[in-house]
Amino acid sequence: MTRIYHITKFSDSSSYIFFYGCNWNCDFCILKKYRFDIHWSINQKNLEIKFLDLNDVINILFKNDIREVFLGGGEPTLDNSLPFLLKILKDKKIKINTLTNGELLTKEIVDLSDRIAFSIKSVNDEIHKKIVHRSNKKSLENLEKLYNEKFTFETVYLKELGCKNVYEIAQFLDSIKNNLSLRVDPLIPVNEKFQRPDINDVDNCIKYVSKNSTVKIYRIIGSGKNAKVLYP
Ligand code: SF4
Repeated sequence: MTRIYHITKFSDSSSYIFFYGCNWNCDFCILKKYRFDIHWSINQKNLEIKFLDLNDVINILFKNDIREVFLGGGEPTLDNSLPFLLKILKDKKIKINTLTNGELLTKEIVDLSDRIAFSIKSVNDEIHKKIVHRSNKKSLENLEKLYNEKFTFETVYLKELGCKNVYEIAQFLDSIKNNLSLRVDPLIPVNEKFQRPDINDVDNCIKYVSKNSTVKIYRIIGSGKNAKVLYP
């Protein structure tokens, strides 16, 4: 059995695959409010989480002619069946994007993926412990050990931490290599702890970081791609 409980398909034949659970506990995690695709307009509270076995996952993907997958959720590296799934997808030449916080990332997973979207919440470990309730040490060690050209980076813009947190991440990325890619997602509030940031502040931060580092920083404009639910 896998930890996969939700699969969606976009109009470009790519698919987002949701893995259940995470070894981190970010205060602002979107999964605290929406366990399924945020755009899915049904009452998600009544939906039961039911895991798929590996064959079912593969059958759903093949039947729907999926050519690219985004493995996220949740933290895909918690799933022991992940390497098996990756091998099957790779054999079928399906493009694999693995979204991870990096703490349990292995060379095998990097080798089998086409892209690693590596999420950094803060490079300041004191701040990291406050907002994620876990140290960033292991994750950043893994990054140092496993980094290659497949890696792109993501973070969340938190109003409460401002641009400083994003700029520190950019400086850290510059210390690895010039011109790395960093996507910034403005926070979507899920509780009272963190507020929605002003989008002008996010854009000003993007301009500041672009000017003062080599990092290719951007945010997704619009509400994201509309997806069709393949499971459940
Ligand atoms: S690392 Fe991602 S999935 Fe895990 S708790 Fe944080 S926001 Fe949620």
